[in-house]
Amino acid sequence: MSLCTPDLTAERAWALTPELLANRGVAGLLLDLDNTLIPYGYEGPVPAEVAGWLAALRQAGIAAALVTNARPSRSRRWGKKLGLPALPFAAKPLPLAIFWAAKALGLPRKKLLLVGDQIFTDLLAARLAGVRVALVRPLAPKELPHTRWLRRLERRCRGDYNREDRPAGGPGGEDEHANANR
Ligand SMILES: [Mg+2]
Repeated sequence: MSLCTPDLTAERAWALTPELLANRGVAGLLLDLDNTLIPYGYEGPVPAEVAGWLAALRQAGIAAALVTNARPSRSRRWGKKLGLPALPFAAKPLPLAIFWAAKALGLPRKKLLLVGDQIFTDLLAARLAGVRVALVRPLAPKELPHTRWLRRLERRCRGDYNREDRPAGGPGGEDEHANANR
């Protein structure tokens, strides 16, 4: 288990199918919001691919919670839109929100997978909390200035993690797949 290498990588969160998750013993997902489920700052309707994926997860009995560092009002709004429990402010990389989510979902941490797009918030929080993590390619190039700075650190940190962090082609593209790193 490396600080810079996720347990799984995927082009998009919705490439993590219920079957793939069940095969890895994942019973609950902790989902980052910005640039993982929706482009950073997006305020439209729930994208069809996200709605479809969440419905498929529900049908397969895989639980999910929103664990985002977005402002409390945005976190609550998107929690409602997506039909997911959401903590007002996750403060990743602190692991506290993950402990909260594990309790909210009623699942042991070993059954959880955090899905996010950043090493120094999502991956680090998951490591500190002892849950597995899937890193996805960020959906949009627009990010906070401090996130852009962290991206530079990510590139150094990764080393063996050969994944460009530029946004990929849209949903449904031919490179939409998930890879197990272990
Ligand atoms: Mg994010």
